[in-house]
Amino acid sequence: VQSDRESMFIVNSWAQQYFSTQLHEHQEGRIVGLRYFAERGFRDDIIRKFQLGYSLDQRDALYQAALKKGFKKEYLDKTGLVIAYDNGNIHDRFRGRVIFPVHSLSGKVVAFGGRVLKKDDKTAKYVNSPESDIYHKSNELYGIYFAKQAIVKQDRCFLVEGYTDVISMHQAGIENVVASSGTALTQGQIRLIHRFTNNITVLYDGDAAGIKAALRGIDLLLEDGMNIKVVLLPDGEDPDSFARKHNASQFAEFIKQNETDFIRFKTRLLLDDAGTDPIKRSALISDIIKTVAIIPDNIARSVYIRECSAMMEIDERVLLNEVNKIRLSKE
Ligand code: ATP
Ligand code: MN
Ligand code: MN
Ligand code: MN
Repeated sequence: VQSDRESMFIVNSWAQQYFSTQLHEHQEGRIVGLRYFAERGFRDDIIRKFQLGYSLDQRDALYQAALKKGFKKEYLDKTGLVIAYDNGNIHDRFRGRVIFPVHSLSGKVVAFGGRVLKKDDKTAKYVNSPESDIYHKSNELYGIYFAKQAIVKQDRCFLVEGYTDVISMHQAGIENVVASSGTALTQGQIRLIHRFTNNITVLYDGDAAGIKAALRGIDLLLEDGMNIKVVLLPDGEDPDSFARKHNASQFAEFIKQNETDFIRFKTRLLLDDAGTDPIKRSALISDIIKTVAIIPDNIARSVYIRECSAMMEIDERVLLNEVNKIRLSKE
């Protein structure tokens, strides 16, 4: 007999095909969904590769089609493809949205993201599948299935924020890229990347939220002994919008020119922020010391201590002392 999990995978796989069929063959899907992707500049081969789809703007079109196919309500509910209300009503979760299937490392569809066609203030821009027996958000990375070979080959992984960033970078020929899907990076996601490479380049949106996110999740990566670089995009750009304005070699050149070591990036950013205010400066110095103390490798750590002492104009021995105090207190 099939396990619950197997049944959920089968339902998701069917739903992925259903959404893709609606996108390519249904009149509404073609006029609304396919046009949306075309306006974003997504090529047809890329739309097929990422198995993008469209969910009709009807209350329960997917639900009815699924029942007709013999799928049980239980699994449509468990996968989150439908929302079952207490009063007995059942609605398609993603209706009227373009669909981004989320694939596991082995290529199974574990979840979906759905985007509204026109952004307004009332509706959430993206709706995602809920957590389930087959979808633990904190252990998945969007794009990992399509990226893993390129990550190994290039021995590095780009980390971006969103679905469309992954897709546009693929279209520009950069395939070693995964997305954290707008949330802070987790230990599980880091381990997933670490199976394939030690080198990660964070390519977050060039806005305040992106910079904050870049500073937040990254201490976790250091703890894992990974080499981390950061590329900050021009203000207001994300990798998707940037890829649309530049060709592949311009994009690669921008990365090469703007790639900064993470700790250097963080130190520079905090220093600029603190200016000459002594209270802010001492707070930032403790912050940097904490970050440097995380680095597991002795040699790498001492290199950073030297570099940061120069950047912050603090005696190297004082810095070393403080870093060692933190490390001792953690033993
Ligand atoms: P687009 O280019 O289509 O506007 P984006 O990926 O640039 O999308 P961002 O606002 O930069 O969108 O958000 C980054 C990621 O965060 C999204 O791809 C999505 O995974 C997630 N996200 C954004 N908004 C929401 C939301 N309202 N609910 C859940 N997840 C969201
Ligand atoms: Mn390693
Ligand atoms: Mn974005
Ligand atoms: Mn975007």
